[in-house]
Amino acid sequence: MNQREIRPTLLTASDRGGRNHHRIFEMAALLCAGFLLAVSALRLADHFEAAWLGPILFAGALAYFAADLVSGLVHWACDRFGSPNTPFLGENFIAPFREHHREPEAITQKGFVEVNGNTAIALTPILILVHVSLPLGTGHSSPFGHIFMASLCGWLIATNQFHKLAHQPPNTNSPLIRWLQRKQLILPQIHHGRHHRAPFDRHYCITNGRLDPWLEKLGVWIHLEAALTRLSHTRNEPAENFRSPARRLESDRHAASPARPLDL
Ligand SMILES: [Zn+2]
Ligand SMILES: [Zn+2]
Repeated sequence: MNQREIRPTLLTASDRGGRNHHRIFEMAALLCAGFLLAVSALRLADHFEAAWLGPILFAGALAYFAADLVSGLVHWACDRFGSPNTPFLGENFIAPFREHHREPEAITQKGFVEVNGNTAIALTPILILVHVSLPLGTGHSSPFGHIFMASLCGWLIATNQFHKLAHQPPNTNSPLIRWLQRKQLILPQIHHGRHHRAPFDRHYCITNGRLDPWLEKLGVWIHLEAALTRLSHTRNEPAENFRSPARRLESDRHAASPARPLDL
């Protein structure tokens, strides 16, 4: 794998202080989300009834596809709209996606907290709401709502980790991860490699990529982009604008060649 050097960043003391606070926030959110998911599993085991098996399996399967759809929607929106300067979302969500096109290998150099922390921050309040409004085993007739929402949050919190694993050299992933990727239970490397070709406008789903062929066959991204551009009266800012001219030329050469997997 071609390991490019990650550019050092010059940080002021106040930047470093802000990053440290954010990291503590990320760690707290990851711990809280892990705790809430564990409570869901324990309560499910405690209150399990045979009649729940169907709803549980259906909710789990539905969440698997729903998470892929949500991951695609978020990725598409961050790639195609706004800029790294957009308030709040710009720095924490849009900038990482744009940087990822310029330096796709950089994600493999990041630690667990940096890769998954922001998603945990976004989803922990939803998990708390699920426990408050859809508690398991307290007279509710079906666990469907709780299992669906908890599974959806679980898949989504793990999504960026699956994304990172799809960029790692295959021989650095464990046999279990390689098997999960081969079966497309998590995002496969070759599948995701198709997103990393100019103009970065397909295969946005990064949980498992199952929905990509369907969404593209139906032209969902094209129709959504046209509708949003019309409604907001603003031009979208494609990811292409945020790449250096040298990388743009390099990608344009690749775009002219047949589909190829990630350069791993
Ligand atoms: Zn992208
Ligand atoms: Zn990627």
